Amino acid sequence: MKAISIKPGTTSIQLVERNEPGISQPDEVKVKIIRVGICGTDREEAAGGRALAPKGSSDLVLGHEMFGKVSETGTGVTRVKAGDFVVLTVRRGCGKCLPCNMNRSDMCLTGDYHERGIWGLDGYQTQFVVDREQYAVRVPAELESVAVLTEPTSVAEKAIDEAVRLQSARLPDAGATPGWLFGKNCLVAGLGPIGLLGAIALKLRGAAVYGLDIVDQASARPQWLEKIGGKYIDGRKIPAQKIAESVVPMDVVFDATGVAPVEFSLLDALALNGVYVLTGVPGGDRSMQIDGADLIRRLVLKNQVMIGSVNAARDHFQMAVDDLSHARLLWGNHLDKLITNRTPFSTGMSAFQHHADDEIKAVVEWG
Ligand SMILES: [Zn+2]
Ligand SMILES: [Zn+2]
Repeated sequence: MKAISIKPGTTSIQLVERNEPGISQPDEVKVKIIRVGICGTDREEAAGGRALAPKGSSDLVLGHEMFGKVSETGTGVTRVKAGDFVVLTVRRGCGKCLPCNMNRSDMCLTGDYHERGIWGLDGYQTQFVVDREQYAVRVPAELESVAVLTEPTSVAEKAIDEAVRLQSARLPDAGATPGWLFGKNCLVAGLGPIGLLGAIALKLRGAAVYGLDIVDQASARPQWLEKIGGKYIDGRKIPAQKIAESVVPMDVVFDATGVAPVEFSLLDALALNGVYVLTGVPGGDRSMQIDGADLIRRLVLKNQVMIGSVNAARDHFQMAVDDLSHARLLWGNHLDKLITNRTPFSTGMSAFQHHADDEIKAVVEWG
């Protein structure tokens, strides 16, 4: 079978021949890959950045945002069967710490986890994979065309879930209100896939969603947001420092920009008792200056919380599937417009190097 692999630390990506994997344990499922998304992490790997080949191998099969169909199951598999659509999670626990042993490897304490397509385990840019049933999340057939968005959605789900849990634990009104986000003002910064998928999750929970970016309002991403009822803020016209007074103070800021100066300046947009959740990882080593005393003063005097969130547990993948299903009912084929670039696997290597201006999500088609 074919696979797209990289020699970690280089920019050498190739279409290679691999042995088709087979089921060897009762709890395993074999999945035929349908399509695999590409994100900033893949492109960083393709540019020679952070990636690790499996032990004993010199190259790593790329891809962590997959969607596929079960082709075969082990004798002990009970929750999925051949023909079911599934998404597989990304991280595999260290086997040593409490969170990993509770199926929460996204909160691993040792850092000795592996990630398919990123760190020490082959990924999904290939024709077939085998994995354990516990990592498979079933997807309804209605989501066939968009379920490749489940993994990036799961990252947004975890971040939002953590923000709400924190608020519920500490705010008098939130503890008594199950749907705390309802009617709250939420700012999504950075309208890439994670930002737009986060906007869906916030919108479905009744929040007023504002999206911040620095592109023309008439372009694809702001237009996509407005179609689901979000309001666009052009950061070139309204700087972060002015958002609270010109628009509204934000109860939640969901950051998916990965640009450190922007991330810090957005604290100005945060309301009293607000929560700020960061998912964007700043690249490079551009240094910046911040007024530390002012930052701490604001956090303390305004009861604000700033948290970082990475990866996602199986439950967040399930939340992602549920929200994408709900979004499909509300907004129909508008969801499909998030997938803007499709490349067949035979020429899939190019998608790792090129990023079209109007791209939202690029995918490689496997069959
Ligand atoms: Zn990704
Ligand atoms: Zn662990």
